[in-house]
Amino acid sequence: SIILRTVLNKKVPLQMGRMCYSSVPTTKLLIDGKFIESKTSEWLDIHNPATNEVVGRVPKATQEEMLAAVDSCSRAYRPWSDTSILSRQQIFLRYQQLIKDNIKELAKLITLEQGKTLADAEGDVYRGLQVVEYACSIPSLMLGETLPSITKDMDTFTYRLPIGVCAGIAPFNFPAMIPLWMFPIGMVCGNTYLMKPSERVPGCTMLLAKLLQDAGAPDGTLNIIHGQHAAVNFICDHPAIKAISFVGSNPAGEHIYERGSKSGKRVQSNMGAKNHGVVMPDANKENTINQLVGAAFGAAGQRCMALSTAIFVGESRDWLPELVERSKSLRVNAGDQPGADVGPLISPEAKVRVESLIQSGVDEGAKLLLDGRNTNVKGYENGNFVGPTILSGVLPAMKCYTEEIFGPVLVVLEADTLDEAITLINNNPYGNGTAIFTTNGATARKYTHEVDVGQIGVNVPIPVPLPMFSFTGSRGSFRGDTNFYGKQGISFYTQIKTVTTQWKAEDATVTSPAVTMPT
Ligand code: NAD
Repeated sequence: SIILRTVLNKKVPLQMGRMCYSSVPTTKLLIDGKFIESKTSEWLDIHNPATNEVVGRVPKATQEEMLAAVDSCSRAYRPWSDTSILSRQQIFLRYQQLIKDNIKELAKLITLEQGKTLADAEGDVYRGLQVVEYACSIPSLMLGETLPSITKDMDTFTYRLPIGVCAGIAPFNFPAMIPLWMFPIGMVCGNTYLMKPSERVPGCTMLLAKLLQDAGAPDGTLNIIHGQHAAVNFICDHPAIKAISFVGSNPAGEHIYERGSKSGKRVQSNMGAKNHGVVMPDANKENTINQLVGAAFGAAGQRCMALSTAIFVGESRDWLPELVERSKSLRVNAGDQPGADVGPLISPEAKVRVESLIQSGVDEGAKLLLDGRNTNVKGYENGNFVGPTILSGVLPAMKCYTEEIFGPVLVVLEADTLDEAITLINNNPYGNGTAIFTTNGATARKYTHEVDVGQIGVNVPIPVPLPMFSFTGSRGSFRGDTNFYGKQGISFYTQIKTVTTQWKAEDATVTSPAVTMPT
């Protein structure tokens, strides 16, 4: 089609991976190196969250198509895992450059389908790009261990090796970063990969896949299927798939962890969050208020590391009026409009849910200091907009505290002491991220040692670790035992072979059988 040709000419990268279908572009499957139109009769609409216009359709892949995708991964596995590690490194070195060259196009696709602002969308790509850059140091990361002379003439060494076909299931909120936590690390270790992007935002993954092809990844090393529950269950059950990386909500993540583990797979499951920011009275006020506002309302609160809960300790509660004023200054608008700070929520259903959680807070006795409901964005009246919202006087039993809101809503609690704040946080089931704002080193140290949360910022509001570390959410925010990216990511996608050798000089030949356990 014309669209496909313009894609190949790279003139309209927004249409990447799609073909014209009933006047709306359709998302293709990637099977065995070819972007193909699904034969399914079941399609889902993709909406622009700022307008709710249908901007594309995504197929629910058929059983036959999903089987073909896994078969392609299986066939590609042996030659790919036998490829020299330096060749794999070269492909990913080219890939990181292609992502850099296409960052604007990738960001446009993210804003179109996900809604976040263009500047934030570039950050989404950039944080994923850093994982690809990390993957480029694979020769050092795959090194094994050696120990010579563990006994006479005997040496032991290990190889770190790939595990086979791996699969990734991604959420809607980071269309670039999260898929890039998955297939680049899995593939650079020598595995082949089956991706199932979020059905709400598949476009960015399709363009990322095309760029990986352009970088030289052989056919079949990355396959892409689309769909919802049936595709997820297919991945959990298929015997050729050895490992699943999942990021998303708790109901889905717990289901996938259980179903995938039951069929013998490794599963790492990053899930929901309720991240607390603790504000000490000795904190730098200006810095803290700005950090809180940015981390609570950026990306319309649709970040697993958003600071969605603030605990004001002691007299820092006097800062609330200024927090409200600063929050009011954010501009709510479509993500592609200049100056936009807060874009729309992903869907009308998400908007209804967020607004009803705000109302539940009011009904349960919280004080609505700033109400973002009924935010009218000129020219985008059909968009899923909710403006920055602040509920104060929130108590732990309230629904707006017990549930992850995943919207631009900051719930504020108060505590008399740091100990009280730590107890509150440790009693919350989630353990993804937290931050403390203070100028006192001893306070910060006590906090980082006593709070039971996997990722902690000290005057850093969204402490998502860079890829040389790992994403270490804990407790209710994670299932599995090996985290995403960093050394743990390499461990997740590899297995160890341990070799013990004995090379004796001829005159030291064993002369009788040893029947006792060698020590
Ligand atoms: P989601 O769970 O609805 O969807 C994630 C993926 O799972 C999608 O590919 C979807 O098709 C599939 N899925 C959805 N429901 C399913 C079900 N019941 N059974 C099987 N598969 C299912 O999540 P989302 O709404 O796309 O993303 C938002 C959630 O992701 C939030 O809870 C957020 O905190 C979490 N998240 C966590 C992290 C992290 O690293 N901890 C990062 C980003 C997002």
